Amino acid sequence: MRYILSHLYVAISLLLFVVIMLWLGTTQSFAQDETPELLELEGGIPAGFMVIEGDIIVPESFFEQNGESSRGGFGDTQFWPNGAVPFRFDTTGNDAVSQANQNAMQSAMGDLEAVANVTFVPRTSQTNFITIRNSTNDMCGSPPEPCPRNSSAVGMVGGDQIVNIVSWNTNFVMVHELMHALGFWHEQSRPDRDHYIEINPDNIDPDNLHNFQIRSAVDVYPKRDYGLSDADTYDFDSVMHYGQCAFAVSACPPNTTITVSPPNQAWQNQIGQRVRLSDLDSLTVSLLYRQPNWRFVDRTNTGSQNGSFSDPYRIFSDGTTHTPTGGTLFIQPGNYYAVGTYNKELILDAPLGNVVLGN
Ligand SMILES: [Zn+2]
Repeated sequence: MRYILSHLYVAISLLLFVVIMLWLGTTQSFAQDETPELLELEGGIPAGFMVIEGDIIVPESFFEQNGESSRGGFGDTQFWPNGAVPFRFDTTGNDAVSQANQNAMQSAMGDLEAVANVTFVPRTSQTNFITIRNSTNDMCGSPPEPCPRNSSAVGMVGGDQIVNIVSWNTNFVMVHELMHALGFWHEQSRPDRDHYIEINPDNIDPDNLHNFQIRSAVDVYPKRDYGLSDADTYDFDSVMHYGQCAFAVSACPPNTTITVSPPNQAWQNQIGQRVRLSDLDSLTVSLLYRQPNWRFVDRTNTGSQNGSFSDPYRIFSDGTTHTPTGGTLFIQPGNYYAVGTYNKELILDAPLGNVVLGN
C-alpha cells in the first residue's frame, strides 16, 4: 500500500508539475501576445504630435528642433528592419476598419510588396508597428468639427504609430500613406523643386502656405543620390507628388502648383496622379528596401558603410566580400581599385555607367 501511495504521490506531483508548467506557459504566451492598448487620439493624432503638409504626422517638437524648413532627412529616417512592417487594424467603435476596407488596405500593401523587399505582417508581439484606423468620423478642435483625413508618420517612429485612412476606395492614396510609413516625404518639398514647379500663393490660404515649405538641404530622395541628373529624377509622376489644386482656397484653376515651362508644362495635368507607382517610385522603394543579396558601393560615401543603398561601402573589395554568392553588387560611377582574385559568383551592376575597375 505504501508502495502504491508513494507512486500515487509521485504521479500527482508530476501531474501538478505539468499543470503548473502548462499554466505558466499559457500566462507567458498571453503576456507575449498581449495586444497593446489603442493610443489616445485627438482627430486621429496622438498627443505630442501634429500634422504638416496635409498628411504627415510629426512630433510637435519638429519645428523647434530644426526650424521652419526642417525635415527629418533621409539620413535620419528610420527604415523598417528587413522590410518587415508589423500592422494591426483598429476594430473598435467609430475607428473600426471594416473587413472590406481591411481587404482594400491589404491590396495596397500588395502593390508595395510587389516591387520591393517589403512585407506587411500582422502584428503579434513586435514592439514597433503601425495601427491602421478609419479616420472618417474624426472630430478636431473646439468646438469640435469633422476633420477626416489620411495621414501617416514618415518611416518607423518606434512603438505604435497611426495610419489614418479616409480614402478606402482609392488604392493609391493608401499606397501614398504607406509610402510615408516606409520613409518617403513629398516630392514637391524637395530642395530643388523650384526648378520644376512654381507655387501660386494667390489661391492658397496663407495659413496653408507652410504646406508648400521646401524642406532642408538634406538629400532625402535617394533617386537624387542615385546619381541621375536632377532633370531625370524630379518625379512629376510620383505618387508622392501633390496635385495642381492642392490646398486651393477657391475654385481651381487657378492652380496652386504650376509646372515650370518649358519644358515641364506637359506634366501640368498629370501631377498628383494616384493610379500607379511611378517608375522612380518603384525603383526607389526597391533600393531602400533591397533584396537580401544586394549590396552597394559608392566611392564617395563617407558614412559608416553598411553596404545598403543609403550607406554603401566605399571600397570595391568590401562590396565583393560582403555580397552573398549569387547576389548583385551595384557600383556607383567612379574609379575603383579592384586588383585581386575573386572566386565568388556575383553580378556586378553599374546602372549609371562610368565605372572603372583597375589598380
Ligand atoms: Zn502625403
